[in-house]
Amino acid sequence: MESLYENIKGAQHQRFFRAAELLGLQDDIMKVLLVPERQVLVKCPVVTENGGIEVMEGSLVQHNTARGPGKGGLRIHPDVTLEETRSLAALMTWKCAAVEIPFGGAKGSLRVDPSLLGTSMLQKLVRRYTAEVANELGPDKIVLAPDVGSDSSVMAWMMDTYSQIVGHTSLGVVTGKPMEAGGSKVRNRAVARGAHFVFREACALAGLEVEESRVAIQGFGNVGKQMAEMLENDGAKIVAVADTGGAVYKESGLNVPALARHKQESGTVSDFPDGERISINDMIALDIEVLVPAAVGELLHKENAGKVRAKILLEAANAPTTPEADEILAQNGVFVLPDILCNAGGVTVSYFEWVQSLQSFFWDEETIENYLEKVLRKAFHQIYKESQDRNIRMRTAAYVLAIGRVEKALRTRGIFP
Ligand code: NAD
Repeated sequence: MESLYENIKGAQHQRFFRAAELLGLQDDIMKVLLVPERQVLVKCPVVTENGGIEVMEGSLVQHNTARGPGKGGLRIHPDVTLEETRSLAALMTWKCAAVEIPFGGAKGSLRVDPSLLGTSMLQKLVRRYTAEVANELGPDKIVLAPDVGSDSSVMAWMMDTYSQIVGHTSLGVVTGKPMEAGGSKVRNRAVARGAHFVFREACALAGLEVEESRVAIQGFGNVGKQMAEMLENDGAKIVAVADTGGAVYKESGLNVPALARHKQESGTVSDFPDGERISINDMIALDIEVLVPAAVGELLHKENAGKVRAKILLEAANAPTTPEADEILAQNGVFVLPDILCNAGGVTVSYFEWVQSLQSFFWDEETIENYLEKVLRKAFHQIYKESQDRNIRMRTAAYVLAIGRVEKALRTRGIFP
């Protein structure tokens, strides 16, 4: 354990240590908070179409369950490592605590490129993985959800396999399920809707009129496209959008529905005819009010963070800003709405889905949106107050509150034996 802690300590979690220092935590409790409770490595052999056997590797990490069952996604990616899975599991512990939903943190991973497998092989792999980790899963133990490389179909296969193993239908073992198999309304737009609620609160605080905002969005997938639609509906001008093909810009505002149709036909936004093609770095430096990362991590780093002119950075993506970039953005007065708060709409509606699954009582859209707004508004104001009281950034404040809550839960339960 000592070496794992030293390893984790050295390699990552700078934000954890900054917050832990502010909380005055001692090394012994930091060790309890940082080292995962359990980690399982599994081998998943699958018979291929031509009768051969392909062996794939997976893992499941239960980081911390002091506040409730471990919650997190299943990542299926050729480069995913145990270290990354561990780090993502810890992030889930802090994210759930930051918005005060009664879950801990966990993460599953399968090291393979799902796009190379085909549906039948992917289903076999997911079912074998579920069987391998079934002892660790459960509505009261670890509840997985979709992440990079997995989707609602993968969740349906996991739920079905687990249900067969335990001998009864267990809807609460995963979230992000299809509607026909116990899924929840609003789940497919939960991240964007949550970020949208956070943005509205921030605008009110910063004295910014949503209708007068010029917005640039990196990523036009599930989250980015929905963010563009919601902000355009509010009257904001979406002046630039980027995807893997590059960025497109129009000073008077892009037409989002037309852009979405174009992306569907051509595969990218960058050659949209009713706009000018620009680079992603040009997009970052635009004179705008709001920059929304909604794609991959590390959009902003020490080389380009100084170019940001936006007043608000709305981190819908996970980890779009490096710690060095954080420093620069703070010096330049950018109001950063951190990922741990901004994209927590996903896990919050997952929590609602889990509750509905356990009760077999399904809520309507209005109820879910109202609850989501309540959870995120409260979290936003608590984090903002903490940042003002301690004179620290929003991200650090979110970590301080989250880590403090997990530590309190741990101490209240006590260390056994
Ligand atoms: P997605 O795969 O649907 O879309 C990603 C988009 O980003 C695509 O338009 C892609 O072209 C673009 N992109 C990828 N690399 C890029 C690059 N280098 N430069 C510019 N654009 C690039 O993914 P998503 O579900 O929309 O997720 C977006 C972000 O939101 C991710 O960081 C994800 O971790 C985070 N998030 C998603 C969920 C969820 O439930 N979907 C939950 C929490 C957080």
